[in-house]
Amino acid sequence: MNCLFCKIIDGSIPSTKVYSDEQCYAFADIAPQAPVHVLVVPRKHIASLLEITGEDPALVGHLHWVAAEIAREKGLTRGYRTVINTGEDGGQTVDHLHVHLLGGRSMAWPPG
Ligand code: AMP
Ligand code: ZN
Repeated sequence: MNCLFCKIIDGSIPSTKVYSDEQCYAFADIAPQAPVHVLVVPRKHIASLLEITGEDPALVGHLHWVAAEIAREKGLTRGYRTVINTGEDGGQTVDHLHVHLLGGRSMAWPPG
């Protein structure tokens, strides 16, 4: 499958690893939008939240648990933002489900 994040997970495209387990892989975003910008991606290829099924809720929860653990490990005690962009209107550019962990600065609302 011609998927950028599947290639990052299998190591054929390099990345800066932040965390890894049997269900997911986390790495530094190549174009960071905050001092901490990590992507948490499931090893299973799921294009987006538009595609999740009844088998996936625990996995989606796990991605958020991992994001929270990374935030804790990076000392983001003042808070942070997790984001999942979904589909065209959601601004998703890579069609493999991922959680953005953004921290280290104050975030604005609403998003663009
Ligand atoms: P999204 O727009 O929500 O689909 O997010 C895709 C993210 O992937 C963007 O923040 C990109 O900067 C990031 N990205 C694209 N290519 C790479 C790469 N080779 N390594 C790390 N992050 C990447
Ligand atoms: Zn993929």
